Amino acid sequence: ASFGYEEVREEEKAERVGHVFSSVAPSYDIMNDLMSAGLHRLWKDRLVAAVQPYAGMQHLDVAGGTGDVAFRVLRAMQSSQAQQQETSSSPEQIALGHVHLCDINPGMLQEGFRKAQETGLGKSGALHWVTGDAEQLPFQDASIDAYTIAFGIRNVTHIDAALDEAFRVLRKGGAFHCLEFSQLALPGLQELYDAYSFNVIPQIGRVVANDEASYQYLVESIRRFPDQQTFASLVRMAGFKNVTYKNLTGGVCAIHSGFKW
Ligand code: SAM
Repeated sequence: ASFGYEEVREEEKAERVGHVFSSVAPSYDIMNDLMSAGLHRLWKDRLVAAVQPYAGMQHLDVAGGTGDVAFRVLRAMQSSQAQQQETSSSPEQIALGHVHLCDINPGMLQEGFRKAQETGLGKSGALHWVTGDAEQLPFQDASIDAYTIAFGIRNVTHIDAALDEAFRVLRKGGAFHCLEFSQLALPGLQELYDAYSFNVIPQIGRVVANDEASYQYLVESIRRFPDQQTFASLVRMAGFKNVTYKNLTGGVCAIHSGFKW
């Protein structure tokens, strides 16, 4: 691959990512709201709308962190279950399915687990918390109906290995959806965007999370990530078909989707 990751040695990158997320876990949710002015919630809603969750599915959210995407998918599965139950003539309970939430960092998962207990979502029995690496997923071949990864693939050491793993665990007909920061599609805003991300974000990190360096790293990793077209071709190279992408907020983020046929 040649999209700039060579600048950071591999072991160094894995170590840095580990440190960043252990350090930011407790303040992660509030930082997301502050840095994106709440927009990350809308972006995650759009990701889950692309998934179209349904009752009975096996969903895998990789780099799931503190659960934002997994919880949205679960709520949509619960609505689908309630709707099907209402219209069903059989007294039998419609199966809810499972949301498997996989992350390499136990600190992030712990934060998510705490939130699931607080909100009552944990009671559904549908959430399955797994510590694991996107590059070596602890899931069987063809066992998953839909795979999501939000703001995660930028952090894995070998993007191609993570995409191969997504392809392996999905069943035939299964869908891959990736939400990630991308490159602005409106070049006139680049200067403003750069000023905001290089100056304001690390300062919010310093004041709120007492960790300027981690947020500096996050901003740099966004700039190094391949643009929409290049990432789409990486998704195709892993074997996915019908690969498309949608820009969100003028290309600040993009959702890439693909299918395993
Ligand atoms: N998806 C969540 C969200 O959108 O709020 C969390 C995103 S957070 C920016 C990135 C997450 O990726 C962190 O929780 C980090 O621990 C996880 N991560 C980094 N490298 C990973 C890897 N190789 N495998 C699995 N998770 C990884």
